[in-house]
Amino acid sequence: MSSIIEVAIAVPLNKTFDYSCAEKVTQGARVRVPFAGKTVIGIVLTHKKISEFENLKSVIEILDHKPILDKPILDFLFWTARYYHHPIGEVVATALPKNLRLGKAAKIKKTIAPVAKITQSNFKTNTEQNHAIEQILSKKNIYQGFLLHGVTGSGKTEVYLHIAQAILNDNKQILVLVPEIGLTPQMIARFRARLKTTIVSIHSQLNETQKLDSYLLAKNIEANVVLGTRSAIFTPMPNLGLIIIDEEHDISFKQQSGLRYSARDLGVIRAKQAKIPLILGTATPSLEMLKNVMDKKIIHLTLTKRAGGASLPKVSLIDMRQNSNGVLSALLIEKMQHYLGQRKQIMLFINRRGYAPVYFCTQCGWSAQCGRCDSTMVYHRSINRLKCHHCGGEEMPQHTCLDCKQPSLEVLGYGTQRLEETLQSHFADTPIIRIDRDSTRRKKAFSEHLRQINTGMPCIIVGTQMLAKGHDFSNLAMVSILDIDAGLLATDFRATEHLAQLLIQVSGRAGRGVEQGGVMIQTRYPEHPIFNYILSNRYTQFAGKLMKQRMQAMLPPFSYQALLCANAKNKQNAEDFLHVVKNLLNNIQINTVEIWGPVAGVIEKKSDHYYFNLYLQSNNRAALHQMLATFHAHIDGLGLKKRVRWYLDIDPIE
Ligand code: ADP
Ligand code: ZN
Ligand code: ZN
Repeated sequence: MSSIIEVAIAVPLNKTFDYSCAEKVTQGARVRVPFAGKTVIGIVLTHKKISEFENLKSVIEILDHKPILDKPILDFLFWTARYYHHPIGEVVATALPKNLRLGKAAKIKKTIAPVAKITQSNFKTNTEQNHAIEQILSKKNIYQGFLLHGVTGSGKTEVYLHIAQAILNDNKQILVLVPEIGLTPQMIARFRARLKTTIVSIHSQLNETQKLDSYLLAKNIEANVVLGTRSAIFTPMPNLGLIIIDEEHDISFKQQSGLRYSARDLGVIRAKQAKIPLILGTATPSLEMLKNVMDKKIIHLTLTKRAGGASLPKVSLIDMRQNSNGVLSALLIEKMQHYLGQRKQIMLFINRRGYAPVYFCTQCGWSAQCGRCDSTMVYHRSINRLKCHHCGGEEMPQHTCLDCKQPSLEVLGYGTQRLEETLQSHFADTPIIRIDRDSTRRKKAFSEHLRQINTGMPCIIVGTQMLAKGHDFSNLAMVSILDIDAGLLATDFRATEHLAQLLIQVSGRAGRGVEQGGVMIQTRYPEHPIFNYILSNRYTQFAGKLMKQRMQAMLPPFSYQALLCANAKNKQNAEDFLHVVKNLLNNIQINTVEIWGPVAGVIEKKSDHYYFNLYLQSNNRAALHQMLATFHAHIDGLGLKKRVRWYLDIDPIE
């Protein structure tokens, strides 16, 4: 006798689909089904006694005889779909490795052996570390969140390793999330060196076969530790006993396309559902987590000193208003010479890749703009092209000005490539290692650069944000931050929080060895209040001040936001769509939710599409979500949709 099953299919519609199935099929298995004239892969969500639809189509093929998604993961995905108001079919698709989505067999190609030989650390954990370890292990069989707030180099990873060992001794699995792929090899190496267990990684530089293997090994409990970037939060781990989220504050835990989830926030939910502890580690806690500490939702554990006797770096400012030396001030060059003379490494941080951000006319002020976006073209010298960093568009640079026809075009400003070139002219004999998205595009390029740096050879490292995170370079004596002024002037309410985090993180790379490191920040705004705190490593006090401001303004984390973004080729269509939505929302009449907009996006035009935003805010999270749910139930029926693309961003960060 055939049964009725409810199937999730990856389409942007808020519903599931019923099919009849002649054979027995288990919940969480994949099935091949006919859908809109094609065959597609879906996941069996439930068995049903009756369907409200007649003439159900039949399942073509059952792909799995054991569930691909077990009950706990399905419950987690349901929660995710509800919270982000996103179709369950698309949520399931986001959670599955591509090969499973495509219908390939759920077979492991290459099994793994446990790490054979481990080394013990040659030091004892200190009092603060011991306290953190004890506290966390005292809650190892229930849900409890911990903010492990330790200054850079205070031995947070050491704490993770001790707790991980205890959890493994109980035969449980561990999920570790790190913000960047660049950090996984380093973290994996440290875990492999210390834990006698099976460890797999999950991140975007693995090929699809490797990704599927890691996923299935975790699912079959053949791997006990999964270490990965944000999407690893969806890995099925039936014996999960601990979740660690390293660099909790990092914005790359938030996915900025498709299902716009926060892997950190979902980490909290997953730990709650699995009734296990969760460690959120960072030197610079997000205001969201500090608010959770205030509300006693999570426990605050602190590591106040650098481990092993290293001291925090000394931070100083270089006033660029008096500088006539270009991008590198005379003082900075002098310091660099000093440290290079001691055979140390130096890191310079500039937040723009390419050669120069502006290509302009010295006669009339014209500058090269992208034709498809509201943005200037960045000059890339190595390929002699102007590139748009928003749409990827490229063109040959002009020789004469398009406006005044004079041959007076020049570059303005610095990107990593131009900085590298300038450095070569000052330090001809010193190797320069540039790390940005262009220099690491090739697979393995990043790890090759890291390997070179880790040899400890004297060198100058030039990099973007990619370098700000977590790396531990023992011969790095000095860090300099060259261009933060744009960040000081930014108007987005989160800008100063992120800038303070970035400054502390970047500074934290310096002086991890025994000698105290130096940090030099070049700025034209040395009296900006943020520096009071950064210079004395007082992130917590600075965060406290920001918290007060947010509370007074009723901004997150003291309220909750959602963003509805619409875009279209036709500007009016995008704006009109949001007006229609706004009317609909106003009719729902939940008066604790404020609605602003529509307003044009910060960059209004991208890739020939115009962007508009509608903001929703409430100090009552349930009310906000109730409104969104009602909106979501009606959205399929709204007109004007065809030519307008839109998305919903819950807890937006940009
Ligand atoms: P974090 O993760 O907080 O940046 P790490 O765990 O990487 O810090 O520790 C920084 C350095 O200090 C590492 O080289 C680590 O081996 C060392 N370390 C950690 N704990 C101790 C300790 N108790 N005594 C001596 N050295 C330590
Ligand atoms: Zn001109
Ligand atoms: Zn463009």
